Amino acid sequence: MAHSEADIEYMRRAIELARRGTGFTNPNPLVGAVLVRNGEIIAEGWHARCGDLHAERAALANCRARNISPEGATLYVTLEPCCHTGKQPPCTEAVIESGIAHVVVGSTDPNPLVAGRGCEIVRVPEHDGRIDLRQLMAALGKRGIDSVFIEGGATLAACALEAGIVNHVQAFIAPKIFAGVGAPSPLGGTGVESPDQAWMLSATTVERIGDDVLIEGDIVASANAAPEHATTAHDDEIANAAPKEDACSQD
Ligand SMILES: [Zn+2]
Repeated sequence: MAHSEADIEYMRRAIELARRGTGFTNPNPLVGAVLVRNGEIIAEGWHARCGDLHAERAALANCRARNISPEGATLYVTLEPCCHTGKQPPCTEAVIESGIAHVVVGSTDPNPLVAGRGCEIVRVPEHDGRIDLRQLMAALGKRGIDSVFIEGGATLAACALEAGIVNHVQAFIAPKIFAGVGAPSPLGGTGVESPDQAWMLSATTVERIGDDVLIEGDIVASANAAPEHATTAHDDEIANAAPKEDACSQD
């Protein structure tokens, strides 16, 4: 992959930041990170000492401290983000949760806990400022991954449904009543205008799990053909998404 002058400049800055930890990070490596949006560095971070935040999380903390959202930003980090839990939880989780759109890695991690553990950052283009989920599914499909468990909030769940990448839904309903007119629904997005536009589940099963009820079913293919469709008030907390046949023919 070709890197622009700017990419090199940001990575240079990240290396500069990494050096600030010199003498304190052992046995951890020196790592620096910068967050960039619209050609501007919006936050910086480095691994200051062993046991402290990793550079990626330090940069995210710096971002929050400055009251800036990291969403859509590009992370330049001198070392591949970790995906294992050590003294700190995995950075890959923080990166994904933060809504960072792209990650540029200076070098891959020779640590066997990270390298070869199937940690790979897949770069996919954005669509309306969000990760293009259909392209992500296509990219995963090419790597032989045909079943994906999506863990996220209401927005991601709605986006996945709207993108037409959800084949199967597991809706857990707990015996709790929240009430409230403005109470958040398990699914975000715009929602459907009328009940006949709702996504339908077929081959549904109902199971009791402890005090909860699990309703499970396959999304009826024709129901989500129109991308503007959103969902009903189902408690879709978890969606099993697998790439659809046509996910590879992304235009
Ligand atoms: Zn880390």
